[in-house]
Amino acid sequence: MAKVVPRPELDAWQRLYIGEIFKGLLTTLSHAARSLSDPAHFPTLQYPEQRPDIPRDYRARHRLMKRADGSPRCVACYMCSTACPARCIHIVAEESPDKHIEKRPARFEIDLLLCVFCGYCVEACPCDAIRMDTKQAVIVGDSRASFVLTKEQLLDWDPKDYPPDDVQSQKAPGGLLHEQALQELRSGTGH
Ligand code: SF4
Ligand code: SF4
Repeated sequence: MAKVVPRPELDAWQRLYIGEIFKGLLTTLSHAARSLSDPAHFPTLQYPEQRPDIPRDYRARHRLMKRADGSPRCVACYMCSTACPARCIHIVAEESPDKHIEKRPARFEIDLLLCVFCGYCVEACPCDAIRMDTKQAVIVGDSRASFVLTKEQLLDWDPKDYPPDDVQSQKAPGGLLHEQALQELRSGTGH
C-alpha cells in the first residue's frame, strides 16, 4: 500500500525562499567555521602532506614472500591464478634445483589494471607465498606496461617495513630472524 508523505504547509515568507536560503547558508558557514577553528573536525586529510594510516590488513599492492636465501616461497602451484576472478596472474613454472621443492616460478606477473583487489589469491595460496599487506594503496604509472608487476618487483620489499612479530617477513634477508632461518634452510630443517 502506498504511504502518503505529509507535506508541510509553507507560509508566505517561506514561499519567498529568501529566509530559507539564508538559513541554509548559515548552516554551511557554521560547519565551515567549526572545521577551520578545529582541524580535528575536518573529515578530510591534507593529502599528500597528510597520509592516512592504512591498516596492515588493507588489501594493497601485492608482494611475494621470500625464503631466507631470497628465493620466492612460491611453488608455482597455480592455485592463486586459478582462484583469481580477473585472470590477471600469469605464472610460468620451472623445475626447482632444491630437492625439497618440485617447482618455482620462472615468471610471476600480476596485471594491476585488471586486478580487482579481492584478495582471493592470498586466500588460495597454500604456503603463504603471496600477500597484499604492503600498505601501498596509491599505485601510479605512465604506461600500461608499468602496471604489470614482475616477479622481481613483487620480491622487492624490505623486512624493516614489516612488524617484528611478522615471522615470515623477518625470516627474509635483512630480517630479524634471517640468520636462524638461513641455517635451518641449509640444514634442510626449514623452508
Ligand atoms: S586480488 Fe583478486 S583480482 Fe587481484 S590478483 Fe588477487 S585474486 Fe586476482
Ligand atoms: S598459490 Fe601461492 S604457491 Fe601457488 S602459485 Fe600462487 S603464490 Fe605461488
